[in-house]
Amino acid sequence: MSPVKYVVCVPDGCADEPHPDLDGRTPLEAAHMPVLDSLAGRSTVGRAAVIPDGMAPGSDIGNLAILGYDPHNYHTGRAPIEAAAIGLRLSPDQISFRCNLVTVDDQGVMIDFAGGHPEVDAAVDVLADLQRELGPGGDWGPAGVVEFHAGVQYRHIMVAPSSWLETDCAPPHDHTGRIAPNPVGVASAELCGLQEASRRVLARHPEVEANQIWLWGQGPQPVLPDFVQQHGVEAGMVTAVDLVKGLGVLTDMDVVAVEGANGWYDTNFEGKRDAALTALADGLDLFVIHVEATDEAGHAGDVAAKVKALEDWDSRILAGLVEGLDSMGRWRMLLLPDHATPLALRTHTCAAVPYLLVDSEVDGPGGIYSERGVADTEVVAGHQLMSRLVSVSS
Ligand SMILES: [Zn+2]
Repeated sequence: MSPVKYVVCVPDGCADEPHPDLDGRTPLEAAHMPVLDSLAGRSTVGRAAVIPDGMAPGSDIGNLAILGYDPHNYHTGRAPIEAAAIGLRLSPDQISFRCNLVTVDDQGVMIDFAGGHPEVDAAVDVLADLQRELGPGGDWGPAGVVEFHAGVQYRHIMVAPSSWLETDCAPPHDHTGRIAPNPVGVASAELCGLQEASRRVLARHPEVEANQIWLWGQGPQPVLPDFVQQHGVEAGMVTAVDLVKGLGVLTDMDVVAVEGANGWYDTNFEGKRDAALTALADGLDLFVIHVEATDEAGHAGDVAAKVKALEDWDSRILAGLVEGLDSMGRWRMLLLPDHATPLALRTHTCAAVPYLLVDSEVDGPGGIYSERGVADTEVVAGHQLMSRLVSVSS
């Protein structure tokens, strides 16, 4: 008998609320998703608290829960996960901050937390300049205490002393169109100073729309048991987002790179599907497919783009995925977002999200995969779904 194959599908932030532009439907209800509808018809659907009570609704927390790690026990901050994704190992006297390239106007209003989505090469040049002027050997105040490391697009990393930890830093995407509060706490002066000093560095980069850095999400490096140790199966993942990739690195998953996977609406959907099928055919037991497009559309408040990203999931991933999995023998799939990103709010919420669990050989009660479709079901803890997926008897 061939081993069971497992797939976890994560349309980032896809859960939403009824929207007037969709005649009061949610994007999941409005999108034409025949493959998902048919899977739902023979699945178990329900509601999952991917964001535990009292925690912030970030993709780090939600994806940690989806991978089957209780965020209460393992989460130390967002930036150290992204630092792991770019190969940084932090020592115990270091923490890392997320360093966004952002656009802030003269009144301090957060115009764009993504700094106009700079080109990767242009952003690398900016980070090199920040490192030269504000990093070791630079002329900023207590020179040499921070280091800048380039990530992707607008998402970068700053390493700082661990004594800076106890500072409240506002996630910039929660303040679009409003005055974003400055850091408050032990390192507020240093962090404000760095953000201010970065404006003169960015002023020399007219090719980049961003005009300063924003520092937040800090923490020490988390200690996570390997995925195979935690769940007893060998796993891989594909994602364009460092935050998710870092979780794969920290849990020793096989993180697969796919050309054209860019975290945006025009990402390589088919490439991600094929990466999953190839990895599973080559011997991995479980594969996580993460696509960011639905979350970006939620942040942009772009109703049509969010519906389109869901339809792309259906026709460009799920259709071929199910066909490919069927040729391998028995398989099980878990599908859920890491949080909701309602179009009307343009930011993440803590609301429980719909999940779908389907087994190719054992039909569940069936249902409708949407926010309303699962509204009457009991809420389960998000981090418990992974063990339900890999325990074939459930
Ligand atoms: Zn997310």
